Amino acid sequence: MDYFTGQFAPVHGPDGNRAAWSDTLEDRRRRHDMVRQQILARGIRQPRLIRAMARLPRHVFTHNHQRLLAYDDHALPSDYGQTISQPLIVAIMTAALDARPQQRILEIGTGTGYQTALLAMLYAQVFTVECISQLSVAAQERLRRLGFDNISFSIGDGSKGWEAHGKFDGIVVTAATAEVPKPLIAQLADGGKLIIPIGKQNLQMLKQFERCGEEIRCKDMLECRFVPLVGE
Ligand code: SAH
Repeated sequence: MDYFTGQFAPVHGPDGNRAAWSDTLEDRRRRHDMVRQQILARGIRQPRLIRAMARLPRHVFTHNHQRLLAYDDHALPSDYGQTISQPLIVAIMTAALDARPQQRILEIGTGTGYQTALLAMLYAQVFTVECISQLSVAAQERLRRLGFDNISFSIGDGSKGWEAHGKFDGIVVTAATAEVPKPLIAQLADGGKLIIPIGKQNLQMLKQFERCGEEIRCKDMLECRFVPLVGE
């Protein structure tokens, strides 16, 4: 299967800076290496996800001076003390949703919008909540310039979910919490999965909760380290 064809149209950055937003041959080479060495080699094989990661210019979501690091195998600092998650973790969380293309996904922790964009390439409708307004506004601008029109943004405390638009076929939480926020379980549609890091400040377990009618099944996935979920 050829995962490595197709490209985003070049876009101007907010400051009209075409260079920062261009997707050069070098960027694509680094991105394809990332997909081969960090994602495929670690056993993640969902074809639509792999193709989306091979296409989506991750360097557009990092700072300009991080361009050479944008496809490396670790998280990177973003603004306001937050991070853009490690590509592998984004892939694992997205793969674990395992929803159908026509379904609706809720993301808590928009951050840079990188995972938001991947979700929007894979699913019909994406709802994303971020508590730091400046991050949300920057992500909205970035995703609009990249051409996405199936994402709804909210600024606020995502531990409450987004009740007005529920229920959701999948929910990903990209910040860590000691306990599962109850509203997120309540907003999970039947058969839907919630992917969330649960634990202490420095180490969490990435968990998958699945709603089967009234029953909630829970599975441990892997140890991880996320920035904390703030709020109630
Ligand atoms: N997926 C993002 C990860 C960002 S880090 C990326 O790869 O860019 C986690 C994000 O969750 C941060 O932007 C942080 O501000 C946000 N966050 C933390 N607590 C939150 C809450 N209660 N509601 C909404 N967003 C929250």
